[in-house]
Amino acid sequence: MNIPSLIDSQRTYFASGKTRSIQQRIIFLKRLRESVLRHETTIHEALYADFKKPVFESIASETGIIIRELNLTIKNLAFWARPKKVKSAIANFPSSDYIIYEPYGTVLIIAPWNYPYQLALAPLIAAIAAGNTAVVKPSELTTATSAILETIIHEVFPPEYVTVVQGAVPETTELLSQQWDYIFFTGSVTVGKIVAKAAAKHLTPKTLELGGKNPCVIDASVNIRLVAKRIVWGKFLNAGQTCIAPDYVLIEASVKEAFLQTLQKEIENAYGDDAKLSPDFARIINEKNFDRLTSMLEDVSIAVGGDTDRDQLYIAPTIIDHPSLDNLAMKDEIFGPILPVIPYQTKADIEAIIDRYEKPLAGYIFSRKRSFSNWFLERFSFGGGAVNDTIIHFINEKLPFGGVGHSGIGNYHGKYSFLTFSHAKAVVKKGNWLDLPFRYAPYKGKNALL
Ligand code: NAD
Repeated sequence: MNIPSLIDSQRTYFASGKTRSIQQRIIFLKRLRESVLRHETTIHEALYADFKKPVFESIASETGIIIRELNLTIKNLAFWARPKKVKSAIANFPSSDYIIYEPYGTVLIIAPWNYPYQLALAPLIAAIAAGNTAVVKPSELTTATSAILETIIHEVFPPEYVTVVQGAVPETTELLSQQWDYIFFTGSVTVGKIVAKAAAKHLTPKTLELGGKNPCVIDASVNIRLVAKRIVWGKFLNAGQTCIAPDYVLIEASVKEAFLQTLQKEIENAYGDDAKLSPDFARIINEKNFDRLTSMLEDVSIAVGGDTDRDQLYIAPTIIDHPSLDNLAMKDEIFGPILPVIPYQTKADIEAIIDRYEKPLAGYIFSRKRSFSNWFLERFSFGGGAVNDTIIHFINEKLPFGGVGHSGIGNYHGKYSFLTFSHAKAVVKKGNWLDLPFRYAPYKGKNALL
């Protein structure tokens, strides 16, 4: 595929004004909804083929989210896209002031493999809603899901409006060497920096949805069983390959042993005695990630799990008891079904550990003491999070989803997605029936009036 001519064709289509009509955008979003509904079973099969993603998790975290996002956008788009009148500045009297939501133009969306369907389509829905044309680059690691994404997109859109470019590093590098009007990237911090550099070359605005080491702090006031259940769910969903999964637990030392035992019970409740046989537990995406993850299990004390099988890309839900901070599991984002649990005595212990890392994408605090959870929320900077639960902030489209610092730039979901893909153009319409002389030269004698 010739990338420059593809982008040229999209620029021409955009310049034709066809994407400007709100009615047209809604028609295409409805066609997209029909197509994803028609292919729903195939999408679930593809996700299963790629890494044994259980159908329940595929509905809850992939197809269900996309249908919700489509329904919400179709319902609200006309309202979101309407110019918003704001109060005028007295100094401009007489005037009417507006914000006009203008599409950027031709946008590039780069998606990761871990929620390969949802993380490609959610930004696309917003790009279309805001009136852009788009090129989508799905992950090369989820071949089945990326293929069905291409089928759906090509079924709904002409390529000069929206198209898919498949490929890995060389293809993405070529895409990034072009000039875009907006880039939306979801993936690792390392590649995020490559994208930021490419965007900087053309001063292209961008959203970076990245990752980090998400802390999960638990004090002794909690109901241990409920906490363990919620952490097991949030951590082992998608086999831990979730950008907002708890990365490590800091627990008040007096309840650590009870917590480890309860975690074991809750893992068994969820996945049985042997998670390898459970239909509800996904696999690691590839050998490279399998090897990266299993190397974290060397020289540590394993409290629960630890079973691995490279042929099946299986790593059991695993709890590491009190690893050294020099251990690999405490170095970078884990992004797999391994959970280190570290005891603390004081708030200073918590600070000393969380402050070692860049600002994470998510933070979680479990406590019955409001002052303690408020301290956590104020003391640490992170993209978003939850008190007394994990992951669930992702589900509410009224909350902006995004990182801070190394975990990302910008946010999306619901109306925030529409705003992300729109330039807010500020316009003052000046009245002509009155022309106050104050601002015009000569200024003599006017300083005192300011
Ligand atoms: P990745 O950065 O390796 O890949 C993401 C995309 O970038 C893929 O499409 C890939 O083809 C492309 N890519 C890879 N290397 C590249 C290079 N050198 N040059 C140009 N493009 C390149 O990420 P991944 O492994 O697919 O996903 C895992 C990471 O994504 C984790 O760090 C996770 O935290 C993060 N993530 C973040 C969110 C979020 O919403 N913030 C969601 C999911 C995943």
